[in-house]
Amino acid sequence: MTDARVNLLGLTRPELEAWCVERGGKAFRARQLFQWIYKRAETDFAAMTDLAKDFRADLSQVAEIRLPEIITRQDAADGTVKWMLKAGQGTSQGIEMVYIPEEGRSTLCISSQVGCAMDCSFCSTAQQGFNSNLSTAEIVGQVLLAQKELGFKAGDDRIISNVVLMGMGEPLANFRNVVPAMRILLDELGLDFSRRRLTLSTSGLVPQIHKLAEETNVALAVSLHAPDDELRNQLVPINRRHNIADLLEACWHYIDEQNGRSVTFEYVMLDGVNDSPAQARALARLLKGRPAKVNLIPFNPFPGTRYRRSRPEVIKAFLDQVLKGGVMATIRRTRGDDIDAACGQLVGKVIDRTTVRMGAKRIATPVIAEHTRAGVSS
Ligand code: SAH
Repeated sequence: MTDARVNLLGLTRPELEAWCVERGGKAFRARQLFQWIYKRAETDFAAMTDLAKDFRADLSQVAEIRLPEIITRQDAADGTVKWMLKAGQGTSQGIEMVYIPEEGRSTLCISSQVGCAMDCSFCSTAQQGFNSNLSTAEIVGQVLLAQKELGFKAGDDRIISNVVLMGMGEPLANFRNVVPAMRILLDELGLDFSRRRLTLSTSGLVPQIHKLAEETNVALAVSLHAPDDELRNQLVPINRRHNIADLLEACWHYIDEQNGRSVTFEYVMLDGVNDSPAQARALARLLKGRPAKVNLIPFNPFPGTRYRRSRPEVIKAFLDQVLKGGVMATIRRTRGDDIDAACGQLVGKVIDRTTVRMGAKRIATPVIAEHTRAGVSS
């Protein structure tokens, strides 16, 4: 028998209110329900004691709160935890999420797609190809699930302080499910993340960055990786469609619209490819005087890659050049590398992939797989 219950996870508060009203309930019931789901992480309607008994009974007939399923969990020596979760269409698909505890904060890195179609040449997710978009429920479900796995109990303060969309996938290629997920995470009756503690990272889908500026105000990170179009065309193929000048213009527009502080530009350090002092100076010239900071990511190798990580002294020299050029910059600490949990090492499992790639020349049709909005199960 197929379970026709609606997964309430993934409905924004207005959507949940509309759903409750449609069922003859009152809007304030939805607010209570929303708080139970996100603030108290309750998945059992029977335990939602301040809701009327018959409302609870009705809910358990027609609805559910379904978190993603765990396939594996790995704990690294430094406290980093990586989970593989079941997701996507077809059998045995998986995505990964990573929890990174640090002094005074803890970050959860979540995925937005099963696989990725962007085809960046230095990223292991790219080798998997693309399978499907995650639903809104699967995106916010990662945060709830991680909290549960880390021992969260109703009444506790949130365990995770920051969420970054830097796992598998290109968030802006799954705009219609990612934006509501951001709204849910920001909602003060829910997980109540502040906009600065929620970061969306993109490889540079320029029209979607403009659109994003109208829809949400989360922090923006951009995978730049090269200071000129010729090199960026090779590393991040979407650049052939939207070049660096257009990308930067979209970033400044986003900051203006959102009254944001700055865009973080990620820059993976590839030995002999993009790590020279001249390239550092060129990078600084692009960003000087702008609301920008640079985050240098030491390349994380994976089987079959042709790239090597820049040597530590080269990364340090690059950092110094960027700073000297008048641009704020930091080096990202590599965490969880004993469990392959670092940037670009998230592979999940993509078995039934489509052949579509967004890179190179075949990008006329953006890969936005239709996925049931709000995770309504069928
Ligand atoms: N698709 C989005 C979200 C992924 S974020 C984006 O491109 O921004 C993951 C970050 O890790 C990106 O900046 C990505 O470019 C970087 N990355 C990918 N592969 C990497 C690798 N092997 N080593 C280090 N960083 C990598």
